[in-house]
Amino acid sequence: MTKKLSVDLKLFCPREDCPYRNDSKNRITKDGFYTTKNDSERRQMLYCCGGKHRYSETSYSELWGKQGSFKEYEQAAKLFCYGLSADAIADVLGKDVRTITTWLLSMSKKSKLFHETMCLNLTMVLSFIQMDELWSFLNKKKRQLWVFIGFDVDSRFWINFQLGSCTNHNAKKLVTGIKSWLKGTKDTVLKITTDKLAAYQNAIKTVLSDVTHVYMQVVKRRKNKRLVTVKKCFVKGSETDFTGKTQNTSYIERFNLTLRQRTSYLCRKTLGFCKKQSNLEAVLWLNLFDYNYRRIHKGLRIAIDDATKKKLFTRKWKHRTPGMALGLTNQTLTWRFLFIAPIPLTH
Ligand SMILES: [Zn+2]
Repeated sequence: MTKKLSVDLKLFCPREDCPYRNDSKNRITKDGFYTTKNDSERRQMLYCCGGKHRYSETSYSELWGKQGSFKEYEQAAKLFCYGLSADAIADVLGKDVRTITTWLLSMSKKSKLFHETMCLNLTMVLSFIQMDELWSFLNKKKRQLWVFIGFDVDSRFWINFQLGSCTNHNAKKLVTGIKSWLKGTKDTVLKITTDKLAAYQNAIKTVLSDVTHVYMQVVKRRKNKRLVTVKKCFVKGSETDFTGKTQNTSYIERFNLTLRQRTSYLCRKTLGFCKKQSNLEAVLWLNLFDYNYRRIHKGLRIAIDDATKKKLFTRKWKHRTPGMALGLTNQTLTWRFLFIAPIPLTH
């Protein structure tokens, strides 16, 4: 399990009433397998040597006792990430929609915790960040709901997001979130590009005042919904600071497109907009795991330079996920891996 990650996730006793719960010296051993009425797939039993009791590997997520099989949990997660609604998934799997929503909330909670644990151990320097926002309707189209997104260009890593109204407050929360994971940017200059939203400018100025950075805004002017001009506005730094293909917000705009495809609530011109903010947030967290750690990204593949290349059927590429590009993981992860990853459910 640990080989898949660059971080060492240590097994611990997840039982809340166990006195050895927070004891780092407590020994955990494997103790056989079991199956449940609803799941024929084997689950690992573990033994807490200090507390002298057994527990199941599913205790590491809130899916414990949720009466589905691992296969069903995994199918639900995948369908959510293909942009299906909870109603559609309930129909496909022959479950009640409330059951599917409970699963969604449990799975997204774990996804969030996992991402935060990984980012805390982030050792690589983020050098080029793009920020953007997209919006959808909330609750019978009476309100607009905005999603602010932070994105690392080099690794295509989706750093974080912030849900809410389009205010300075939410932009500031997004930037503060990114800053808490920034490391070792003393000698390097952090490049940031966003669109012309004033909220970012204020947030970057106040939150990142002690981080060396350059900042450029891309100002697009539209006439009758057609793009007329694109102007670059160097707020901090000058044109020479943005070398190569960095004077744009294209990467995150392309990412937004991916996200809209994969989130039913964010699709344009549908009736599937969000009725409940917490559900959209949950679906976004699932998508974040899927995008960062599970799916390979074509733009991140590396050519395998091999002398035996001329032979047929040899691998030409090493495929990578954004998490692998950033050195957080060594392989693509699976949903099951997420469900049983030993991370405390309460911080
Ligand atoms: Zn215990």
